[in-house]
Amino acid sequence: MSRREFSKPVRREMLQRSGGKCEAKGELFGLAEGVRCNADLAYGVRFEHVLPDYIGGAPTPENGAAVCPKCWRWKTDNHDRPIADKTRRVSEKRQGLRQKRSSFPTARTGSWKGKIGGGVERR
Ligand SMILES: [Zn+2]
Repeated sequence: MSRREFSKPVRREMLQRSGGKCEAKGELFGLAEGVRCNADLAYGVRFEHVLPDYIGGAPTPENGAAVCPKCWRWKTDNHDRPIADKTRRVSEKRQGLRQKRSSFPTARTGSWKGKIGGGVERR
């Protein structure tokens, strides 16, 4: 997965904005609604996309948060991976519809199989 990372000036701006405290806030990072982590970033900092770049989040200070490694880990494990999987599935499905080629699940375990010469049929 290629990511558009935050540039150095953007990271610096976010770090300044954070005041040296973790900006992770709310459910997205496993915290209570409206609660900010505020952990000291002197022990480590990650710059996290609030809206992941693969679904249109830009690498701007507005879409970023300077967070502590703990919050970063939590979000990565609980949000980014499941969403990335879902996004991939949805876009594969869309491609299948658009191309009108057999992007249907034609694996042996699927309920559709591809026919020689194109098209699919139900088993
Ligand atoms: Zn934190």
